[in-house]
Amino acid sequence: MFWDREIEALPRPELEALQLARLLRTVRRVGEHVPFYQTRFREMGLDPASVRTLADVRRLPFTTNADLRASYPDGLVVKGPEQVVRLHTSSGTTGKPKALFFSRKDVDEAAELIARCLVMAGASQHDVLQNMMTYGLFTGALVMHYGAEKVGMLVIPAGPGNSERQLMLMQDFGSTVIHTTPSYALYFADFLERKGIDPRKDLRLRTGLIGSEPYTEETRQKIEDALGITVFNSYGLSEMNGPGVAFECSERNGMHIWEDDYLVEVIDPETGEPLPDGETGEMVLTSLSREAMPILRYRTRDITSIHREPCACGRTHARIERITGRSDDMLIIRGANVYPQQVERVLMRFPEVGRNYLIRLEGLDEMIVQVELSGATFDGQLEHLVRLQEQIVEKLRAEIMVRPKIELVAPGSLPVSEGKAKRVVDNRKL
Ligand SMILES: [Zn+2]
Repeated sequence: MFWDREIEALPRPELEALQLARLLRTVRRVGEHVPFYQTRFREMGLDPASVRTLADVRRLPFTTNADLRASYPDGLVVKGPEQVVRLHTSSGTTGKPKALFFSRKDVDEAAELIARCLVMAGASQHDVLQNMMTYGLFTGALVMHYGAEKVGMLVIPAGPGNSERQLMLMQDFGSTVIHTTPSYALYFADFLERKGIDPRKDLRLRTGLIGSEPYTEETRQKIEDALGITVFNSYGLSEMNGPGVAFECSERNGMHIWEDDYLVEVIDPETGEPLPDGETGEMVLTSLSREAMPILRYRTRDITSIHREPCACGRTHARIERITGRSDDMLIIRGANVYPQQVERVLMRFPEVGRNYLIRLEGLDEMIVQVELSGATFDGQLEHLVRLQEQIVEKLRAEIMVRPKIELVAPGSLPVSEGKAKRVVDNRKL
């Protein structure tokens, strides 16, 4: 099923011609109306009129997280006639957030992309969406909300947390689709288990739109088994409108990235040099149709690769791999580069392991992984637990080249956050 077959299955030469026209328009507009880019172009000696092909995107400056913060509150907004109608922010752990502005057309286009994603995941106006993301300044919930309304779904703006109320809403209004984070999906599955609710029999859930934190294929499997739903991987970032940037089709072989709105590159995060299709590196995105706040070559810090071979679903837009980490999530432990997702991938292959874990770095360079067990395993025999602990240490050592200490803990004993999961606590005194 397609929301807009004409654009979703546009032949690639036409798609690229559309991208080029929109890139040239974007470069011209920021060159005329955004002081931040005017300064950058001047510093680089770049004449915007000399940008003529899609490959010329490489001559444009990168825009970083730090640039967005430095231009707070409105240094990157187009000083033009378009009316700005909405503000979102992207939270930072310290200091001021990043401020992101939308024109009326931007709000509508973001909803349009969500509508494509929802229909691609098999949703229709007969579905009921329980939106369990955070409403407010964060883009996650509101952008999805508008897109689902466009499709004609009944949207329940539940927000995150309060599992008792989530369950009541699901039962009373027959929710068929949930939108949430992987960590809350797993937490909620535990909650249902404790309540003795069998989601396959007692609820009407069918589909999970799961995103906003990177997660592994193994975690997807766990969520599907526990909730009896089909999980679609959803990718977005507030700097590029929020959710709806890329999403899985029914083939679930990567996420289609909507190339009429985003020009995607993958670069070597160290050198900034572009990498060929299929190679893993940092994704860089240029917005092609944002009006209020276009962004050139945004360094997402998300690690992925890009594939442009045709997809069996008939869509022509490229696919990106599941995000395997963020370039700034990388931990250096005893000289080895470790991504938290590598640890997760190993842990989630053990059926005895529950749904939550925490990596703690202590002392000089000691790595401790606290692992929640499933209920049945926790009540099992001590020798079995000792053996399990040894097996986890060995598998992790083989994957990350560091020998961690493993602490097996009771189900539900590690903290669960309502927003993005905190997987790493770094108390090292280096
Ligand atoms: Zn597809």
